[in-house]
Amino acid sequence: MKNIKDYNLEELKAELLSIGEKSFRAEQIFKWLYIDKVKSFDEMTNLSLDLRKKLNENYDICNFKIIKKLESKDGTKKYLFGLSDENAIESVLMEYHFGKTVCVSSQIGCKMGCKFCASTGIPFERNLTSGEIVEQIIAIEQDTNSKISNVVFMGIGEPMDNYDNVLNAIKILNNPKGLNIGARHISVSTSGVVPRIYQFADENIQCTLSISLHSANNETRSSMMPVNNAYNIQELMKACKYYIDKTNKRISFEYALAKDNNDNLKDADELISLIKGMLCHVNLIPINKIENGKYTKSSLENIIKFRDYLNEHGIVATIRRELGSDIDAACGQLRRKNLKN
Ligand code: SAH
Repeated sequence: MKNIKDYNLEELKAELLSIGEKSFRAEQIFKWLYIDKVKSFDEMTNLSLDLRKKLNENYDICNFKIIKKLESKDGTKKYLFGLSDENAIESVLMEYHFGKTVCVSSQIGCKMGCKFCASTGIPFERNLTSGEIVEQIIAIEQDTNSKISNVVFMGIGEPMDNYDNVLNAIKILNNPKGLNIGARHISVSTSGVVPRIYQFADENIQCTLSISLHSANNETRSSMMPVNNAYNIQELMKACKYYIDKTNKRISFEYALAKDNNDNLKDADELISLIKGMLCHVNLIPINKIENGKYTKSSLENIIKFRDYLNEHGIVATIRRELGSDIDAACGQLRRKNLKN
């Protein structure tokens, strides 16, 4: 059955017309799904019984089951959601002074193979549909009885490897008649799938683009991230500049510091010459150790030194607050789980 949450508003209008209904019904359904957040078609009381029956027969409303919920000392919550097949995914809720942010997964598993990331540990299963991406936010809003203000595509998966569904999910999240989360409050993070960065720049949406850079040196970066063998740093930077030119938006470079790997001032120098003058900022992340991972966290003292050095050389850099590491909810700690393991 088709998931009703896979449709953006325009598509839902067309879908309703195709089953002989008036298109304004789509707006009513959108309101029920994304503002009232009902869990069944039967609760959509301004629709005729006949239409509710049709919806029940032809569409799934996609309610995730919470299989597990962990809460960190810092208030971060990690959800393990059961999907309608045997799969399960993780999403994380973080509280900041500016509001609540959900970190969503975009795929079940990941193909990118980054050596430091737990999501690499288990083979790729499938892409999430746009409705399954959106449902992560709805389920958390329902569970916490609150409104989510920001969404980051930094959970399991490579969003640019599930481009169409991610883009459609953004359209659904964005819609003022639905969840109404502004594009400026949505960040998409990529390991560097260059052709998709160009495509994303041409979409004309005002999302923040985060690039998982982690090193300004091709040899080091390739040893951490196989994607660098397909699209090297120079190609990646060209695409980033195109994104900035097209959108006038600042790019966020993610840089996870691993001891004696990419964390000394020589590495900082390479980074400075690479991005100097670009409209960007650098997010420094103390690398989180994962099971069997060969990287260890850089010391806080060293991270501060790295940050200050960048700042002194005109690069805006901040250290990302570590949230949820006690419940394995921090960057790179999410894994695909299924109900059997
Ligand atoms: N595939 C996308 C989005 C998911 S990862 C991407 O690569 O950007 C979200 C962020 O967490 C990325 O910047 C990723 O590089 C980072 N990350 C992965 N493993 C990490 C780890 N062990 N410690 C710190 N950050 C990590």
